[in-house]
Amino acid sequence: MSDNFPAMIIRDKEQKGASLETLSPSDLPDYPVLVRVDYSSLNYKDGLAVTGKGRIARRFPMVPGIDVAGTVVESDDPAFSPGDQVIANGHGLSETEWGAYSTFQRLKPEWLMHQPEGFSQKQAMAIGTAGYTAALCVNQLISWGGLASDQGQVLVTGAAGGVGSFAVSLLSSLGFDVTASTGRSQTHDYLRSLGASSFIDRAELSEPGKPLQAERWIGAVDTVGSVTLANVLAQTAYGGAVTACGLAGGYDLPASVMPHILRSVALIGVDSVMAPKKRREAAWRLLQKTLQPEHIDIIAPIEIGFDRLPKAAEAILAGKIRGRVVLKLG
Ligand code: NDP
Repeated sequence: MSDNFPAMIIRDKEQKGASLETLSPSDLPDYPVLVRVDYSSLNYKDGLAVTGKGRIARRFPMVPGIDVAGTVVESDDPAFSPGDQVIANGHGLSETEWGAYSTFQRLKPEWLMHQPEGFSQKQAMAIGTAGYTAALCVNQLISWGGLASDQGQVLVTGAAGGVGSFAVSLLSSLGFDVTASTGRSQTHDYLRSLGASSFIDRAELSEPGKPLQAERWIGAVDTVGSVTLANVLAQTAYGGAVTACGLAGGYDLPASVMPHILRSVALIGVDSVMAPKKRREAAWRLLQKTLQPEHIDIIAPIEIGFDRLPKAAEAILAGKIRGRVVLKLG
């Protein structure tokens, strides 16, 4: 490969947002697998990186973008051959390692997975980190034990966001009665089409409440954190479990031990970035088995190019994106 190509770059920590530049092949890191990045996506974390509003990059210059779907061009590793379609996410991409917003990227083989069967590249990125994180959460809730679909309602907070939308879709497809918590009542029809059966306003959960409240949920996927997560824990029924994966409402947790010591409620942390391979594969298996293809189209109707990325990054931080945005690079 000899031609130059476009990429989004953050040159240093003083730079206010990433800018579009032209790179040459010799600019790329010295890693064994050269990938043509065909699609990526926009996550909340990408919004922080692209706008410069959050300190995501810890090394400069940095190429942001945490989700890669691409085609192998060259590989020094026997696990991958030219023409293979691959995906990658996490593993420090956009933080300490150059990420997806570059038409070509060099990556380590241990970060790559062959594209999960049954999904196109575009679908894999519509799912991306958000859908895969939702699947990690749902798998954790189920393997915690005792979560049966006939026992009561499960709650998803930040429901109209990327992780929330996929959590609603997966849980409803598995037969659970899903309550969606959202701050945007105009998304109710959208969330109903993904299987949510009832709604609570985000504001109901964002005021500090008592350490133990009426038992409402057999389980929950929380993407919001802070007071919301504290209330969700206080409202979880005896023996239930809550996965915490996000901080859209804040990174603090003003909670008490009461739900845990009096109701055996479990709080399960979920990280997607360094998740071990087995857990990643199990999450993609759940997506392959459970996700309804029409739900992917409902969740990710928007495809953009580099030109619209900065505006979309502002919009996701302002909570104005519903579902997912796919980025097409090729
Ligand atoms: P999105 O921006 O797509 O969704 C976040 C949703 O949270 C919004 O759509 C909104 O939902 C809700 N929200 C936004 N601001 C607030 C607020 N101030 N108070 C309460 N709710 C709010 O983000 P993602 O779905 O991509 O990510 C969700 C969270 O999960 C983020 O914090 C992200 O950093 C984290 N995350 C963590 C991962 C991990 O590895 N642990 C992996 C992926 C994401 P609504 O409009 O419905 O109220």
